[in-house]
Formats: sequence, structure tokens, C-alpha cells
Amino acid sequence: MFNIILFGPPGSGKGTQSKLLIEKYGLVHLSTGDLLRSEIAAQTALGLEAKALMDKGQLVPDEVVVGMISSVLDAKPNAKGFLFDGFPRTETQSEALDNLLKLKKSEIGVVLALDVNEEELIKRLINRALTSGRSDDANPEVQKKRQEVYKRETLPVAAYYNKFNKVVHVKGEGTVEEIFSALCSEIEKRLS
Ligand code: ADP
Repeated sequence: MFNIILFGPPGSGKGTQSKLLIEKYGLVHLSTGDLLRSEIAAQTALGLEAKALMDKGQLVPDEVVVGMISSVLDAKPNAKGFLFDGFPRTETQSEALDNLLKLKKSEIGVVLALDVNEEELIKRLINRALTSGRSDDANPEVQKKRQEVYKRETLPVAAYYNKFNKVVHVKGEGTVEEIFSALCSEIEKRLS
């Protein structure tokens, strides 16, 4: 099993690149943002609780997202590998993920970190708000909060995996194809 974490701030292109990567490498896509939005659409109790936090740009509690991830890992015992997108988002989530994978005699193969400058991120998120229909995209205050939460809670995830030499930085600026091919070449170095 080869597992990848696609890492980067809101707006760095994780969703776009994830779609291309899972297709090319036959991985199972695990986006906690998408899983949470499905819960909201289905109007579950979990979805209602999550929506209140997401609309403020805050994180959903670790045990909630870890529980969702754990269920999908259990449901797909024959997966060739998983692509984690938007998860882990805290150091606690990183430790929990490593433990879950260890139980399956597996581990994270690489953390691909998409680097995009802040000005470009803001531009992309403003654009995304026009088409995404996401209430957390439309409000500039919420956008700002998400970037703050990213710096405070999520950047430590990269530091955590850096201790195990698993982080590779890839330039997240350029065309979708250019970024995709840079990601693929990093993956292939590690697959062979
Ligand atoms: P983006 O692509 O803009 O970073 P996501 O779709 O990944 O956004 O997530 C949207 C929101 O869902 C986050 O702002 C957060 O409230 C919640 N969320 C998603 N993943 C996690 C996670 N791993 N831990 C906690 N909250 C999460």
C-alpha cells in the first residue's frame, strides 16, 4: 500500500490535484472536507455540528474527523493506497493517522506539500467563492480565519512528518499540468 498526504493551505490546489492523482495511481481519495460536506448534505447530527464550526472557519474536533477516516480505512481493506486531502490538519490527527495505518501494517509514504504564496491564495479563494457554493468561501472574515487556523494548527503537521523525512515541497504555482507532473515525479521517485 502506498499512502500519500497532499498538504497545503486552503486554496493551494489540493482538491484539483487529488482528482488527477487518484486516477493515475488508483488510490482512494480521502478528503475530510468532502466527507464533512456529505454529512451536512445528509443533515446528520454530525453534519449539523460540523457546519457550525466550518462556517466560522474553525476546525471540527479531532475525534470526529479521525473517526470518519478510521471508518473509511476499515471499509476499504483492499485499497492500493490512500490519498489524504485536508487531513491530517493537527498534530493530534497526524499521530492518530500513523497509529491507524500501523494497525494495517502500513504507513505514510510521502507528504507532498504544495507551496503557494499568500497573495495568490487569496486570489484563488475569491475566485472559488464565485462558483463553489460553499458558505465558508464567500466570507472574507472566514477566509482570514481559515488561513490563521492553518498557520497555527496545521503547519505543525508538516513539522511532525519532517521529523521522519517524509515531506517534499512542490511549487503549487503554474498550470495544473505543470504542478501535476511535478507531483508525479516525486511520487515515482518513491515508488521505484
Ligand atoms: P479547504 O480546501 O479550503 O482547505 P476543506 O474542504 O478541506 O477546505 O475543509 C473545509 C472545512 O472543513 C475546514 O475549514 C474545517 O472546518 C473542516 N475540516 C476539514 N477537514 C478537517 C480536519 N481534518 N480537521 C478538522 N476540521 C476539518
